[in-house]
Parts: sequence; structure tokens; C-alpha cells
Amino acid sequence: MGLTNCSECGKLYVENAARICPDCYRRQEEDAETVVEYLRDVDKATLEEIHQATGVKHKIILRLLHSGRIMGSAISYPCETCGTLIDAGRLCDKCSKNILDQIKTDERHQEHEKHAQQQKIRSRMYGSVGEKE
Ligand SMILES: [Zn+2]
Ligand SMILES: [Zn+2]
Repeated sequence: MGLTNCSECGKLYVENAARICPDCYRRQEEDAETVVEYLRDVDKATLEEIHQATGVKHKIILRLLHSGRIMGSAISYPCETCGTLIDAGRLCDKCSKNILDQIKTDERHQEHEKHAQQQKIRSRMYGSVGEKE
């Protein structure tokens, strides 16, 4: 455990699991309560509506969403890539599909590299066998 700067306010604090200083942590807990409280009365809201109604920062609302603390209500928030309103995950269908395609392409590329590598090793092995004979 050492001292580190709070990612929220920049203040030095003793490192903890929350990764923010106790002051910010308390503030975020209060914000979380406010948001949870607000969502108890509405069953559908956009990130912007929650922000307007509670005054809680988008970033904090998103963090609550991603950590699953305010799941259950239908909350729309912007896709992290294109800004389309979504209510699950971090990206809209289109962007997650793009990313999946990207991953698949990368995997295919890696597969190809691995194959090429194996080919090289094989030919080296056979090559050395050939030299000895
Ligand atoms: Zn802080
Ligand atoms: Zn998107």
C-alpha cells in the first residue's frame, strides 16, 4: 500500500480497492444513492435525463451502469464509439459487430502467423534432417 493520486480530484491518498480517495468515494456513493433513488420512480430513462434530474456526472452514471449497480431499469446511454443510444453493454450493435469483425480478422491473422511459423519450424527441422542424411 502506497500513496497515489486520486483519479478524480488528484489528491494524494493511501491506495485502496476503490482507486479513488475516500472523499471522492463517499461523494460517488452519495451520487450512486441519488441515481438509484431516482431510478426507483422511473422505469425508463436516458443517461442525459438521469444527469439532468440528479446532477450526477455522466461518467459516474456510466460507471454505475457498467458495474451493474443500476441494472434493471431501462436506461439508454450513448454507445462509446458512435453515440447511438443503447441500453446494454458499452457499444451499439453496429459497433460491437465491427469490433467482433475486427477481432475475427485479428484472430485469422494470428492463426495465419502461427501457421507460417509452424511451416518455418517444420521446414527447418526437415531441412536439418536432410543435411544429416
Ligand atoms: Zn479524490
Ligand atoms: Zn455505436
